[in-house]
Amino acid sequence: MPHTISRRSFIEATGALAATLTTTASATSPVQSTAAQLKGQPLPGGVRLPATPPRRKRDDSVGIAIIGLGGYALNQIMPRIDHAERMHIAALVSGNPAKLAQVGDAYGVPTDARYSYADFDRIVADDRIQAVYVILPTAFHADFTIRAFAAGKHVLCEKPMALSSTECEAMIAAGRRANRKLMIAYRCHFEPYNVEAMRLMREKAVGTIRLIRTDQSYRAGPTTPAQNWRFNRALAGGGPLEDYGIYGLQSALYLSGEMPESISAATFQPKGDPRFAEIFAHVATQLTFPSGAVAQLATSYDAAGANLAQVRGTDGTLIIDPATGYAGHRMRIEGRDARDFTPGDPTTQFAAQLNHFANAIRDDTPILTGGEMGLRDIRLIEAIYASAREGRTVKLAPDGRMRG
Ligand code: NAD
Repeated sequence: MPHTISRRSFIEATGALAATLTTTASATSPVQSTAAQLKGQPLPGGVRLPATPPRRKRDDSVGIAIIGLGGYALNQIMPRIDHAERMHIAALVSGNPAKLAQVGDAYGVPTDARYSYADFDRIVADDRIQAVYVILPTAFHADFTIRAFAAGKHVLCEKPMALSSTECEAMIAAGRRANRKLMIAYRCHFEPYNVEAMRLMREKAVGTIRLIRTDQSYRAGPTTPAQNWRFNRALAGGGPLEDYGIYGLQSALYLSGEMPESISAATFQPKGDPRFAEIFAHVATQLTFPSGAVAQLATSYDAAGANLAQVRGTDGTLIIDPATGYAGHRMRIEGRDARDFTPGDPTTQFAAQLNHFANAIRDDTPILTGGEMGLRDIRLIEAIYASAREGRTVKLAPDGRMRG
C-alpha cells in the first residue's frame, strides 16, 4: 500500500500552518487551506492579450473581478468573457504587480480596480464589482470565496471546490449568510456534447445502463511540489483525481443520473519519483449505483493521454472521446442503433457558463452547478481516499457522506 498522509499532518510536518494565516483564518477556522502560501506568478508563456480592450455590452452586465491571473484565467476565461453578453471584467486581483499592470492595460481595467491579494477585502467598497471568479490553486478557493461573500459579492469558483468537505460547508454557509450566489465552474454542464449525452441517457438511448468507464489521464513531465502547485499536497490535495479525474467522476453521476451507494478505490504513489513525493500518481475507483450499474473511473498523471467517457447499456454503448476538453469532442453510439453526434460547438461552453451565472444574479434564477454539487463531489473524493487508505468498500448516504 502507498504511504498516505493527511493534509493536516502534512501541513504540520512542514511547519506551514504557523507560517501564513491570512486575515480570515484562525486556529479554529474550518478553512485550514489558508496555511498554504499565495505567491504571485509571472505571465504564463503563450498568452495572447487583446489588442484592444473589450467593451461592456449591456447596461445590466455583471461586473466580475478575476482572482488569479494564471493559465486558465488568461488563456480560456478572460478572452471568453467578451463572448458572454451579460458579463464584463470589472477588476483584477493578482500577486504580481507587473503582470497586473500588463493584463489590466490590455483588458482596459481602471488602475483603481486592480487589487493585490492583501488589499482584496477593499472590494467591499467597489460598486463596479458584483461578483468574483476564483481561479487560484485549490487551497485558496475557500478563503477567497468566504472573503468575497463577506464583501457582499457573488462567487463563481473553479473546480475542485476546495480541499475538504469542511471547507465546502463553510463556503456554502458564508454564501447563505451573505444571501449571495455560489456557482462551481463545472463547464461540462454547459457544453453541447455532454448536455446531449445527458439527454440521450435520460431517454435510454443505450437501454438500461450497466457499466460506465471514464479515464482522465496524462503523463506529467519532470517537476516537483515546489515547482508546480498541482503536485503540492497543501495546494492541490491528492493530485490527479481532484484536478482531472473529477471530470470522470462528474460524468459518471450526470450520465447515470444516480448517486453511488458504495465506493471501492485504490491509489498508487510511486517511491523515489519527485513528481509524486506528495501526491498520488494514479487513482482507480469503482462506484456501485442503486440500479446495479457500476462505474469504473481511472485517472493518472503518469499514463498516456486519455479523456474518455463510455456508457454501456443493454442495447448499445455511448462513447465520448475526447469527452471533457475545451474543444474537439467526438461522440457516437455503437450497437443496435449506431450513429454519430455533432450537437454543437464545444467552445461555447465558456460563455454559456458565464451567462448562466450572470443570469442567475440578475434574474435570481437557480444555479445548475451550485455549492452543494461541489460539496457532494468533495465528499465522494474523501470517500475514495478513505476506501483506498483503509482497503475497504465504503458505503454512502444519498448526499455522498460516508456511512459508518
Ligand atoms: P496556474 O498555475 O496557471 O495559475 C495559478 C495562478 O494562481 C498563478 O498565476 C498565480 O496568479 C496564482 N497563485 C497564487 N498563489 C500561488 C501559488 N502558491 N502557486 C501557484 N500559483 C499561485 O493554474 P491554472 O491552471 O490557471 O488553475 C487555476 C484554477 O483553475 C485551479 O482551481 C484549476 O483547477 C482551475 N482550472 C480549471 C480548468 C477548467 O477547465 N475548468 C482548467 C484549468 C484550471
